[in-house]
Parts: sequence; structure tokens; C-alpha cells
Amino acid sequence: MSEKLLEIHDLEVIYKTGLETVYAVNKINLSLEKGKTLGLVGETGAGKTTTALAILALLPERTAHVKGEIIFDGQDLLQLKEYELREIRGEKISMIFQDPMSSLNPILTVGSQISEALTLHNDQNRSKEEIEARVEEVLEMVGIPAFRKKDYPHQFSGGMKQRVVIAIALACEPELLIADEPTTALDVTIQAQVLAMMNELRERLQTSMIMITHDLGIVAQTCDDVAVMYAGEIIEYGSAADIFTGDKHHPYTVGLFGSIPNLEVDSPRLSPIEGLMPDPTDLPKGCKFSPRCPQCMDICREVPPADYVNGGHRICCHLYNKEGTK
Ligand code: SF4
Repeated sequence: MSEKLLEIHDLEVIYKTGLETVYAVNKINLSLEKGKTLGLVGETGAGKTTTALAILALLPERTAHVKGEIIFDGQDLLQLKEYELREIRGEKISMIFQDPMSSLNPILTVGSQISEALTLHNDQNRSKEEIEARVEEVLEMVGIPAFRKKDYPHQFSGGMKQRVVIAIALACEPELLIADEPTTALDVTIQAQVLAMMNELRERLQTSMIMITHDLGIVAQTCDDVAVMYAGEIIEYGSAADIFTGDKHHPYTVGLFGSIPNLEVDSPRLSPIEGLMPDPTDLPKGCKFSPRCPQCMDICREVPPADYVNGGHRICCHLYNKEGTK
């Protein structure tokens, strides 16, 4: 039977300042099995990165109010103390941040940046020489010659820097890797190489992965399950087959697919989703997508929709909860 590595229940993240209250993540539920990849998809501002930062407890303490449960390996991460979280970050859960250019320290060699994680989480009591050997091994694993460990970040191209960031994230062989738009800053050919390498490493190390992206092509190549996020909510959730080939979808998911060029259909223009994501300080009362939804009904503006559930496929939309269509 499949084993759950991560379960998130009713996660809510609200930023409160003296000036405003931002509803960034609104009671989301998701789970991830060992060795599987979950895609978190959605536009900028949907709450994807905030969800990832909440898992790692890296949100600003003074302004971010986090509620719910984040169960990782049987422990609720939201109940742990900072020193307990430090044992988990980098060792059991690692994150690849969006921009490789700003994730690396420009005044340290890449080798020392990889060895830092290994030294901090040295459960195996590795000697200095063993840590150096592991640094070389990890660099080779991501396709960078070991002798380049003495080089500084500015001596690497964008794609190579991203490989270094991945090497740092994988150095301690984490159980969960969160990749936040890992290829957005890269050109298309390097993107393909980095994705192929991540897939290969995941297979080899059996690491579970959360892939945050707005690119459905990347989801199709890498993910087993997909959660589509909109305005801090998961509006559709299911296996990659449910999302890519199922016959029922949330109108927002339909819009996302309509925004992708289809080489098999002769169409003069794409069909983008009209309008913008709602202001997170002033979210619509009913369905958050109602101001942009081409199928909006009266009930949608007043009542938040419940999930329509079909096996593992969930769609949060009134269209499917009407009597007779369930
Ligand atoms: Fe559109 Fe209504 Fe469904 Fe929201 S609940 S996505 S407004 S049909």
C-alpha cells in the first residue's frame, strides 16, 4: 500500500500588517505519497510559494499567521520548535528556490556552499575528507565536473548555477524536495536538461517532490498528481490523467489549457483567461473565480462552492454540485 509522506489539512496563511490583511492560502488540503511528484500549478499570486514556505516554516513570524496541520512523516511541522525544524530543513525537506542567480552566495565557492548543508546535518559523522568526497559526488551527479568545486557562482552559466542549487538541495538526500519554478529563469534547452536530470535523480534516490510551476508542459513531464491553485485555494486536484485527460474540469483549469497553443488545431488566436486574480485583501464572497468565470451563475457570487469528488479527483465548482450532475 502507498505510504503518505506529507499530508496538509486545512492550511491557512494570513498576513496581517497594521494596514491590511492578506488571505494568501485559504484552507487547502493535499497529500503526497513517498516517491511521487505533486505539481502545484497556478498563476502568480495563487499561493503556491506561500504554501511551500509554510511547509518549511520559513514565513515571516511577525506578519504570517499559519493555521491547520502539516503532517510530515507523522509529525505536525506547525507544532515543532525552531531547533526541531532546523533538523528537518535541508536534511529531510529541501527547497530549490526560483532564481539560481540570487540563491547562491557570490563570495563562497560552490563546493563550500554544498558542504555547508552536509556539515550542518552530519548524522553519519563524516570526516572532512568524506564530506569533500560527497561534495564531488553530488557535483558529478548533477553533471558538473568535480574539480569545479573551487569555482565561484559567477564562473558558471545560468543552467550550471541551477544545477549547483539542485546539488545543494540533494546533498543530504532529502525525503521531500520542493522545487519552486526551478527552470523559469533558464532557456528552453537548458530547461529540458535540468528537468530530465531532476526526473532521473528522483527515480534513483526515490525522493518525493513538490513541483511548483505555472507551466503545464512541465507538469505533464514530471508529475504524478496535480493541484491547481487559484486565489489561495485548490480548485482542482487529481492524478495527472484526471487533469490532462478527464472529461470534467474546473472552468479555470479549462482556461489554463485554452491559453496553451495547440499544434493540432488551426486557431488564429489563443483563448486567454480574461481579467486578473482577485485582490487577496478583498476576496469575492462566493467562488473566488466568479468575476472571471465564463460559466458563472447567481449562486457562484454568493455561496463558496464545495468539492465535487470522484475517486481521487476533486473539483471545487457549483457546476458539478448541482443536483443530477454529480
Ligand atoms: Fe465558475 Fe461558478 Fe464554478 Fe466558480 S463555482 S468556477 S463561478 S461555475
